Amino acid sequence: MVLQDKLGRCVNYLRLSVTDRCNLRCMYCVTKDFTHIPHPDILRYEEMLRLIDLAASMNINKLRLTGGEPFARKGFMEFVSKIMARHGDMDLRITSNGTLIEPLIPELSRLGVKRLNISLDTLDRKTFEEVTGRDHLTDVLGTIEACIRAGIRVKVNAVAMKGINDRELGAFIDFARNNPIDMRFIEFMPMGDDTKSDSRFWSADDILAQASEFANLVPVKRTKENRGPARMYSIEGGQGRLGLISPVSSHFCGTCNRLRITSDGYLRTCLFSDHTYKLRGILRNPSLGDDTLKKVIAAATRDKPLGYHLLESRKGCEGVCGTQMSAIGG
Ligand code: SAM
Repeated sequence: MVLQDKLGRCVNYLRLSVTDRCNLRCMYCVTKDFTHIPHPDILRYEEMLRLIDLAASMNINKLRLTGGEPFARKGFMEFVSKIMARHGDMDLRITSNGTLIEPLIPELSRLGVKRLNISLDTLDRKTFEEVTGRDHLTDVLGTIEACIRAGIRVKVNAVAMKGINDRELGAFIDFARNNPIDMRFIEFMPMGDDTKSDSRFWSADDILAQASEFANLVPVKRTKENRGPARMYSIEGGQGRLGLISPVSSHFCGTCNRLRITSDGYLRTCLFSDHTYKLRGILRNPSLGDDTLKKVIAAATRDKPLGYHLLESRKGCEGVCGTQMSAIGG
């Protein structure tokens, strides 16, 4: 079974949030009145494995585990090991803040994890504390180094924020010049109620124009390996590359191939849409089997919206969707 929507977009990529809990409190991610999802509502690992098995049977071949902070959930490494044992051919990736995992990197590599996305919005210790509420910059840098040593490919993601990390563009480019990483800036998305802030918005085009003052950037051709949402540039004379992800100024809805499942078991067919499908009830109903789950997932995929319409129609309103990122997983 191939998952396809009414517009002909094929879906082969699942982003699964394993927890809404996180050891950081990033200013763009967590709202003031944030409350955690009650524990009984969080999917158990066995339930997640069942969903992954189903997804694999529906032609999903790329899986990203995210959160919250996935490594903050107890038993996460064992969960990864089970996924790898059942779906060795799945392109498994993990998104992490990199604060807890430096000692786990050799084990992740042994399990066959080849790619990690690590969020890092600043290279300055004080700014790191301001953005995340915690003093963990050195841990994250240690994790990135450990990944490079272990041969795990690292994408470093920074949320682009004027007045916060724009002054560090040169330092970030040097970081990518000196390390074999993809240094990617993501445009700030106004998710959830108090993350709206037009004054912080720093567009991908502005970043590119400013970046060319620090390096000769050569656009990387789109290939099978380089077809994600980031526009990639190699840095002349450097080891790493610069990437720009522009969900706000230049959307990539036309080629979106993703589904998301939140840690409490809601299927989300578009990052910007709050229209969700509750899979948890089906998973926990003994009289409903895999066929029902498959039918719901296929029907939801058929109606996958175009997120930029939602973004446009809600411009200037509170947030583009009523759910904050920590609950969705980015
Ligand atoms: N804890 C993990 C981490 O820090 O990467 C995974 C969860 S985090 C929600 C996933 C991604 O969403 C991160 O790359 C983060 O920077 C991004 N993100 C969160 N809120 C965002 C926002 N308002 N705009 C753009 N990106 C955001």
